[in-house]
Amino acid sequence: MCGIVGYIGEEQAAPFLLSGLEKLEYRGYDSAGLCLNDGGTLVVKKSKGKLTELKTLTHNGSSLHGTVGIGHTRWATHGEPSDVNAHPHLSESGRFAVVHNGIIENYLPLKEKLMDKGITFRSNTDTEVIAQLIEYYYQGDLMDTIIKVLSRLDGSYALGVLSKDNPDEIIAVRKESPLIIGLGEHENFIASDIPAILSKTRKIYRLENDEIAVIKRDGVSVFNTDKEPVQKEYETIEWDIHAAEKGGYEHFMFKEIMEQPKAIHDTISPRIKDGRVVLNEISLTAEQIRSFRKINILACGSAYHVGVVAKYIFEKILRIPTEADLASEFRYRDPIVDDKTLTVVISQSGETADTKEAMKEAKRRGSHVISIVNVLGSAIAKESDDVIYTLAGPEIAVATTKAYSTQLAVIYLMAIYFGDLLGKITDTEYQNYLSELLMIPDKIQQILDNSENVQYLASQLFHADDVFFIGRNIDYALSLEGSLKLKEISYIHSEAYAAGELKHGTISLIEKGTLVIALATHEELIGKIVSNMKEVQARGAYVLCLATERHQELKDVAQNTIFIPPTCDMMLPSLAVIPLQLFAYYVASQKGCDIDKPRNLAKSVTVE
Ligand code: GLU
Repeated sequence: MCGIVGYIGEEQAAPFLLSGLEKLEYRGYDSAGLCLNDGGTLVVKKSKGKLTELKTLTHNGSSLHGTVGIGHTRWATHGEPSDVNAHPHLSESGRFAVVHNGIIENYLPLKEKLMDKGITFRSNTDTEVIAQLIEYYYQGDLMDTIIKVLSRLDGSYALGVLSKDNPDEIIAVRKESPLIIGLGEHENFIASDIPAILSKTRKIYRLENDEIAVIKRDGVSVFNTDKEPVQKEYETIEWDIHAAEKGGYEHFMFKEIMEQPKAIHDTISPRIKDGRVVLNEISLTAEQIRSFRKINILACGSAYHVGVVAKYIFEKILRIPTEADLASEFRYRDPIVDDKTLTVVISQSGETADTKEAMKEAKRRGSHVISIVNVLGSAIAKESDDVIYTLAGPEIAVATTKAYSTQLAVIYLMAIYFGDLLGKITDTEYQNYLSELLMIPDKIQQILDNSENVQYLASQLFHADDVFFIGRNIDYALSLEGSLKLKEISYIHSEAYAAGELKHGTISLIEKGTLVIALATHEELIGKIVSNMKEVQARGAYVLCLATERHQELKDVAQNTIFIPPTCDMMLPSLAVIPLQLFAYYVASQKGCDIDKPRNLAKSVTVE
């Protein structure tokens, strides 16, 4: 979500700032801007819309001069997307410029106070208050001023600050919103995410909460809010630079769909040794695990859908009551959580603000937290008691695919591992689960290699206005993800419904031609879901059924069928989700949608 890039060095800053912002485009934004220190004047160019607008405005950066600059892609929270609300924001006299990711929760009283003092605001953003406060408090020492300003701000922020009077430095600050510093030779960088600077350096510092960095051409110093120096250890980023590029595919989403066999293989194989699941990441003793009375899963979006699958799996195998909770709801409802509750937190980025805050609430109440996270060293990874990394590699498309799939794989590993420790599964079941798990990547490959049918169906069905995804049990959990995938990238309204619940209300929306996608992979409930297909067909629905190859007879029930290879019940979502992702992708592609950057959405949602 939203992006910050900054440069200080010996080259012209603008071209690099633009290319850095391009690398962050995937996170979602609605406007963009740059500010450069041009011989003692802070020059700002900004524009609503895509980066191409800003490139045109600045002649690809060539009309902006200076070797120190900051850039931003904004995902509006306060004030509509517009030229004037785009960042960077200048203080009244133009002495300071600020880019900001996050939200200043108390901006209104601060703004009112400054307006009472006669200061004129130009935008409707919360961010402008930071630039104005800096100028208001400034008495010659920028560090003192920043410290004072920070003490006035409530909320979350990653900030890049330029000062006209200090032309040879950038100030960077972070609280609850990620910011890194890239270390180069006679040049240094700031960025809200690694891809922005990977073309220049692999050496980074990660800024922690309440740290203030002073970035100059030949060095970076970091201080705490008492102005004491903080010793930072640099990290070397091992990513293959191509991992964050499209590699010949038209869209990141398609590339990431195709990467799923490898991503799952990479996630499970280091954790299976000599025919046993080894989860050394989990610090709990068998005794502690036995003491849990409840499992709480906290997540948002697709990660929450993984949580719903996990509820079915954990309850069935472990016989421990499990709740999947929307992180944004959890913390504000006085949840019943204590040291007898195991909390599992799921987040691709490890920076999802809602999830992070929910996790803190669970910890405050004494719960042990295991996180499932894709991004190394992210806030959630650091703050949880144990972290199990998904090894999906960087996920760029806003609509998640490989992160979802690798999160599911970790859930299977946990179910097998805990099931064994708790004596809930026999040796035969253990071996069976393990061999099925090891076959998942190949089976996904098989589905990917034979996906023409899905592409054809998408070309026939992309005109749909409303789609219903129905399923029972674990198929219901999967229908949530199938529905979200379709609506988020194709903008077709769709709903996920527990198949048995349809008749309690929503069936009134079924009319002639309504597309119903019926998930019928769960062996024990085929008969029931067939009845639900018949119910909607009787009211005119067009039914597309997803089932395992074992149930060819379903061809006679639905208007169309998609088959996947069979596996054990628990792991069916890993296979069944693939045609649903492909269907969403091909429908969105038929409709000409901006697949990697769907409107209004952002990757890694770092505001509440
Ligand atoms: N809250 C700020 C705004 O609306 C920053 C948004 C962002 O993180 O891009 O301008």
